[in-house]
Amino acid sequence: MKQILWFRRDLRINDSAILANAKDEVLPIFIFDKNILDKLNKDDKRVTFIYKSVLKLKEDLKEIGLDLAIFYSTPKEVFETLKNQGFDSVLCSVDFDNYARKRDEAINKIIPMQTFTDSFITHPNNCLKKDNTPYKVFTPYYKNLEFIWESESLVLFERNKNLKKIEFDYDFVPTLQEMGFKKQKLPEFLEKSADELINEFSLKISDYQEGRDFFYKNSTSNLAVHLRFGLISPRELFNKIKKMRAIKSQKDFYIRELFWREFYNYILFHFPKSEFENLNEIKVDWNEDETVFQKWCEGNTGVPLIDASMRYFNETGTMHNRLRMIVSSYLTKNLLIDWKKGEQYFASRLLDYEASSNIGSWQWAASTGADAVPYFRVFNPYLQSAKFDKDAIFIKSVIPELKDVNAKLIHSENGVQSNMFLDYPKQIVSIEYSRNRAIEEFKRANNEKY
Ligand SMILES: Cc1cc2nc3c(=O)[nH]c(=O)nc-3n(C[C@H](O)[C@H](O)[C@H](O)COP(=O)(O)OP(=O)(O)OC[C@H]3O[C@@H](n4cnc5c(N)ncnc54)[C@H](O)[C@@H]3O)c2cc1C
Repeated sequence: MKQILWFRRDLRINDSAILANAKDEVLPIFIFDKNILDKLNKDDKRVTFIYKSVLKLKEDLKEIGLDLAIFYSTPKEVFETLKNQGFDSVLCSVDFDNYARKRDEAINKIIPMQTFTDSFITHPNNCLKKDNTPYKVFTPYYKNLEFIWESESLVLFERNKNLKKIEFDYDFVPTLQEMGFKKQKLPEFLEKSADELINEFSLKISDYQEGRDFFYKNSTSNLAVHLRFGLISPRELFNKIKKMRAIKSQKDFYIRELFWREFYNYILFHFPKSEFENLNEIKVDWNEDETVFQKWCEGNTGVPLIDASMRYFNETGTMHNRLRMIVSSYLTKNLLIDWKKGEQYFASRLLDYEASSNIGSWQWAASTGADAVPYFRVFNPYLQSAKFDKDAIFIKSVIPELKDVNAKLIHSENGVQSNMFLDYPKQIVSIEYSRNRAIEEFKRANNEKY
């Protein structure tokens, strides 16, 4: 038996389903997929991070007597070549987004694939309502999984220690430049391993529930990127959280967040159309004004908190969860722009971009998705900045021209613009007017549905 172990979004050797289920002679591989890479900007930070992680995986595999063959090609070409070389099965972890599903269907026809639920704790088919239909609301879904999250630890995969490395050309390692990319500066937390981040988080988990919304602080775990690329398995993270010396309610709160990740994966699995359509099927008359959308992307809306969030995002590829909630609410409600445009903009540069979480969260913000925010609950960005960044620390750190402005002015509508010595963009919409416009439009769209 000649097995291919296809690493994709599970770039680790610990708690690895494929290393546990593999037998005999194996060829671990990673493909820098031209279908994906060709569509990315050449300064995409994620490629730098993946590249670094793939090289680390290669080293880790060498330490256990294996190696990693690296390809820069399309999966179809790679597997056709490997089939001709006598490989007869592929082991990999499941991947549910639209491109991944189609890709895997095609590969399965070339060499049969065996897939494992390795990037998530639960398989979406393992949690259905009594009538065998999927949940659309988080709380009952989560309740149904109580037997998992109440357990003290989850079983991890033990690596098969008898695997043998197949002779192969393991020397080919394309450089970033050869693939058309430039090495990018990554945020400091991405220079750390998952274990280092977990250790840091163990010192602050006691403040997680209260502190996690204060976006000028660093109260969250910063583990989303590592989870996304499988540098840590969600099961292992779960176990490590459970073992932390902290009160149960804080640990439970964090684990509940991890299950939002599971939930959105579950929703995308059961409702794949939600990648392209409003899950609740309402038809919103979205604003098509491209200029306004561009101002949101650039961070030139005239609302300091929105502008700081978007400028920071453009610079770093990251954004705090509360800020994501605020900018997505502003785009879909105050500007009445289709969530899909915001979703795609995030997808183009978010370091922790995960199709399911991103689509689910955008549909949440737009009041079109599963367990979404009610349409009449529109975040007021000024109240949000006053509440979660009283001294405007975050805003001032991103927008230096506001550094000497009184925080109270920053937190009031048109406050910054009232200072005639400042050259700051005018608001593109009034908060009150645009909020009412959105509520009217969503009311109409919801009424028409029934
Ligand atoms: C509009 C919008 C888009 C988003 N897009 C993504 C995305 O593409 N990828 C992504 O991983 N998260 C996304 N999120 C969720 C959340 O913002 C990030 O998971 C979080 O900011 C990552 O930081 P952290 O690891 O420090 O989070 P922590 O607060 O430490 O949370 C721990 C982990 O729980 C999971 N998690 C927490 N909140 C959520 C949530 N609301 N939905 C799903 N999982 C969650 C993440 O895996 C996270 O790493 C989005 C949220 C919004 C509002």
